[in-house]
Amino acid sequence: MVFQDKKVLVVGVGISGNAVAKIAKQMGAEVTLSDSKAEADIKYDLQELRDAGVKLVFGKQENTLLDGVDMVILSPAVPVRIPLVQEAYKRNIEVTSEVEVAYKLAKSPILAVTGTNGKTTTVTLLGQLMRTRYPNAGVGGNIGVPLCEEALKAGENSCVVAEISSYQMEASKDFNPHVAVELNVTPDHVVRHGSMEVYQQMKEKMFANQTKDDFLVLNYDDPKTRDMANRAKGQVFFFSRKEALAEGAFLCDGWLTIVWQGQTCKLCKADELKIKGGHNIENALAAAAAAFLGGVRIPKIGETLKAFEPVEHRIEPVATVNGVPYYNDSKATNTDSSIKALESFDGHLILIAGGDDKHTDLTEFMTLVKEKVDELILVGDAAERFKEAALSLGYAPEHIHEAGYSMDKAVEIAHQVSGIPQTVLLSPACASFDMYTGFEERGRDFKRLVKDLLK
Ligand code: ADP
Repeated sequence: MVFQDKKVLVVGVGISGNAVAKIAKQMGAEVTLSDSKAEADIKYDLQELRDAGVKLVFGKQENTLLDGVDMVILSPAVPVRIPLVQEAYKRNIEVTSEVEVAYKLAKSPILAVTGTNGKTTTVTLLGQLMRTRYPNAGVGGNIGVPLCEEALKAGENSCVVAEISSYQMEASKDFNPHVAVELNVTPDHVVRHGSMEVYQQMKEKMFANQTKDDFLVLNYDDPKTRDMANRAKGQVFFFSRKEALAEGAFLCDGWLTIVWQGQTCKLCKADELKIKGGHNIENALAAAAAAFLGGVRIPKIGETLKAFEPVEHRIEPVATVNGVPYYNDSKATNTDSSIKALESFDGHLILIAGGDDKHTDLTEFMTLVKEKVDELILVGDAAERFKEAALSLGYAPEHIHEAGYSMDKAVEIAHQVSGIPQTVLLSPACASFDMYTGFEERGRDFKRLVKDLLK
C-alpha cells in the first residue's frame, strides 16, 4: 500500500480513524481527517494528530473536501450512504476502510472472526492461541484496538487476528483473510444495513476474495452460517457443539475434538474450560479450529483453552463472599445475552437485572428467570416492566426486590439474601445508559462493590 505523496481523506474521528490518519501521514501522505460533529463534541484527544500534521476539519462535510483527493478511508462508524462518500464514488475516488488498509499493510496472514455474537471472546482466545506460536501476533479490529496498528506491529513471519463487524466490511473490496471464521448470524444492526439480507451479505463479504489455499471456518449448528459453505471459495472447516462431524472441530463425549485429514485430536474436556456456557464452547471450538489451521500445535491448543479466563464483563467471576460466588455479566445488554448467561448455570441464582430498557418481549427471559432464579433484584428504568413481566408469569412477589437506581443497594440486597449453594449474577438484559456511561462502567462499579464486601 503506497501513501507517499497521496492526498488522503479519512472520514470519522475514532479509534480506527485516528490511527489510520496517523499512519497514512507517517507514510508520506497529505492527510485530512473530517468528522461531521463539532470539535466540542469529540471525546478523543486530538493533540497527537495535530502534532503529527494531520489536518482536522469538523462540522458540515462539503464536497470540496474531496478536491484533489486520491483516497477516502472510512472509520467503521461511517456508513457508505452518506452524501460525501456517494460523491467520492461518483468522482471515481478510491473509497476504502481502515480494516482494508490494515490488510494491505500486513506482511503476515490475517485470521478474521465475525458473527453477531461471541466475536470478542473468540478473538481474544484466538489471539492467545496464535501468540503461543507467533509471540508478535497482532490482535485488533472491532475489539477496540486499531487493526492497522496491529498489522504493522506484527511484522513478517507472524499473523494478525482481526475482529470484524459488519460495519467494517461495508467499504471493503479486497480484504482477504487467510482464515475466516463465521460464528453465527442473527438479526442485529439491520437499521444500518437496511435489511437482514444486506447484513448477511456484509458477513459473507469477509470470505468473498478467498482462494482454495484459504480456510473458511463455519458454525455447523447455525443454518445461516452452515449455508455459507455453498458460496465458499476456500476450504470449509465446520465446527459444531451439537453434532459429531466426519471432519472439523466438535464436541464428542465431553471432549473438544478436531478431526482433519484422517487425524483425530482431543484438545481438552468441555468442563475444563473456565469460560462458562454452551455458547462459549462454540467460541472455543471456533478459536481452536482457526488456531489449528493457523499452525498452532494440538497440545498448545489444549493448554491455552484450559488456561483462558473469561473476558471482562462476560460471565466474569468477581469474588466469592461467604461461600457465594459473584459473576459480572454487564455485557449482557439484551435478553438474548442474559438468557445465554442463565443457561450457563444450574440454578440457585440471585439475579441483578434491569437498566436502560430495550422494550423487547420478556416472555422467554422471564420464563427462564422463573426456572433458575431464587431472588430477582431489579434496577433502573426497566425495573417496573421487568417486575410486571415476572409477576405475570407467576414469579413469587416476595422474591422480587427493587433497588431503584442504586447498584450499591442491589449488591447489598444480594449479599443479604444469598447463601450457599447460591450464585449472584449481574446480567442486566438492558443497556446501562440510565445509570452509567456504558456497560464497562456498570460492570466495574459492580465489581468494586462486591470486592468491598470482602473488606
Ligand atoms: P461480541 O464481541 O460479538 O459482542 P462477546 O464475546 O462480547 O461478543 O459476547 C457478547 C454476548 O454475546 C455475550 O455476553 C453472550 O451473551 C453472547 N454470546 C457470546 N458468544 C456467543 C455465541 N457463540 N453464540 C451466541 N451468543 C453468544
